[in-house]
Amino acid sequence: MQSQKESLRLSPSAIACYYECQRRFFYRYIKKIPERPTPQLIRGRITHKVLENFFNFVSLVDIKHDDWEKLWKDFKNGLISLLNTEWNLIGKEYADCFEGEKEKKEYYEETKRFLDFYAAKLAFSLSDKVKDLNRNSTWFEEEVRKFFFPRDRELKLVLEEENFSGIIDKTMSLFDDSIAIVDYKTSKSALPHYIPDSHLKQGKSYAYLWKKHFDIMPKHISFYYLRTGESVFYPISERDIQEIENDIVEIRNKKQILEEFPKNPTRLCTYCDFFGNCFANKTKSDFIKEIKN
Ligand code: SF4
Repeated sequence: MQSQKESLRLSPSAIACYYECQRRFFYRYIKKIPERPTPQLIRGRITHKVLENFFNFVSLVDIKHDDWEKLWKDFKNGLISLLNTEWNLIGKEYADCFEGEKEKKEYYEETKRFLDFYAAKLAFSLSDKVKDLNRNSTWFEEEVRKFFFPRDRELKLVLEEENFSGIIDKTMSLFDDSIAIVDYKTSKSALPHYIPDSHLKQGKSYAYLWKKHFDIMPKHISFYYLRTGESVFYPISERDIQEIENDIVEIRNKKQILEEFPKNPTRLCTYCDFFGNCFANKTKSDFIKEIKN
């Protein structure tokens, strides 16, 4: 018979889910009840794939100038062409979960906007950097590469003994040889310059994974919010690593029964696939009224 640790694989997303609602964690990770893919989820996967592939497309030779508008146009064209390739795989490699062509088109146009903004920001910061560098220096390429190219992309890390794994979107080398972990987010953020608690929990879990895997502390975790182009960072400390260690111990010490994982009723329940399991006799509108009171 499998032990609790063998049967329950944890990940940064699982830790964030546990933090948001333990009952949902129970249904999703212990009972493994399948959930319907949503347009947000599919768009998120496509966007991650586009950004992963983008750096294969960019050549350092093309960025030896500092004309940011030209760079913007080039980056934008590359990103949109990668987006079109992935978007055409909806219904094949990605589930077609859109309500109809209208909704699908709206999501496509919105994603194009995010990527255009990403291209503009990247082009501007890169051109600014290139201005400060000596193009004839033998270090030029290395410096641009370090500033601009990810050190890792979609890096899967597995802690076999702990049965814990995760995929890190991107890491960047910092100038003191430490690294920053970058997590892309396509979801809405409640406030500007703000990291929602569940995102922070997930980010700390990536840092935990990195620390345990390489025995090196990442310097910080950055969240890049594609909707707004905001990048918000959080410096990682030993306390954060300990916090995640405690979460894992807490989860692993629980019996895998429903009663051990309480519900957390919030407005988010109305978007949750398990609403019917949790509130079988309630309509969503009655539920919202109760939450407000
Ligand atoms: S409906 Fe609400 S309480 Fe139930 S699992 Fe989903 S988020 Fe948790």
